[in-house]
Amino acid sequence: MVGPWIDATAPYVNGPSSFTQMYGLKDSADARRFVAFWADAGATSFKAYMNITRPELAAAVSEAHRRGLKITGHLCSVTYREAADLGIDDLEHGFFVATDFVKDKQPDLCPGQTGGMTALLGVDVKSPEFTSLVQHLIAHHVAVTSTLTVFETFTRGQPVPPGLEALDPILNAQFEQGYARVQQDTDPRFPKLLALGRAMELAFARAGGLLIAGTDPTGMGGVIPGFSDQREVELLVGSGFTPLEAIRICTLNGATYLGRADRIGSITAGKQADLVVIDGNPAANIADIARVSLVFKQGVGYDPAKLIGSVQGRAGLF
Ligand SMILES: [Zn+2]
Repeated sequence: MVGPWIDATAPYVNGPSSFTQMYGLKDSADARRFVAFWADAGATSFKAYMNITRPELAAAVSEAHRRGLKITGHLCSVTYREAADLGIDDLEHGFFVATDFVKDKQPDLCPGQTGGMTALLGVDVKSPEFTSLVQHLIAHHVAVTSTLTVFETFTRGQPVPPGLEALDPILNAQFEQGYARVQQDTDPRFPKLLALGRAMELAFARAGGLLIAGTDPTGMGGVIPGFSDQREVELLVGSGFTPLEAIRICTLNGATYLGRADRIGSITAGKQADLVVIDGNPAANIADIARVSLVFKQGVGYDPAKLIGSVQGRAGLF
């Protein structure tokens, strides 16, 4: 099938929550059973979510690692520092969802996502408290996934995201309404938070942390696969990375995290031919990254104009 290589992640590993479509773990034995069940069914990775407890996360990590699989987290109830101590492999959404800086945080309880973000706004990227967290994550070999494209859509003054024409027209109209609403938003916190989150990711990577990149189709729905991956590279350059650093974060670092850097992630003799041919020089001008003239997956070349043409108005449909 034409499309990307897909690694299937299991349903969220989470405690009871208001998301009725998610299974709510009962205890740590249940967490172990849940991971074992989905690993047996073919899932190759796991994502802990906002209402997991520390014992449940510890059990999930243990069961995943016993099978040679990795577990990431979009956390809230468990802090980044606690998750590192419990052996988590990666943390989603940069530092945006860290609850480490919430005063009087109750163990194993999520203080609400906005609670964490409000506390984060009081943290200086050069402060000992943040630097110490970064060092702790690096010492425990915890990677961090940057997902700037989804936070950008919540932030007034950011450009319209690329690729909206690929969206189903109803979803496209919904996104345009949401985007217009955000442009009227006078709450200054999101612009500050976006700038701070970007500075924190830069500091983590510059300190030697493994920063990787993802996108996120949730939120307002304007984050389109492929287009948003290119946009993420641009946003990283805007954060202060050099173009080559940003490209590496979005390619080789992900392969390194997955333990597949010997096969994918860079263009080297002997590696699998997963690559794009660009009409320009993104190392000098990062906007050129969107000027793709050929794309190769596992050695087979495709015409990107035809690929994109084949999905116009269809993205977001299952
Ligand atoms: Zn998430």
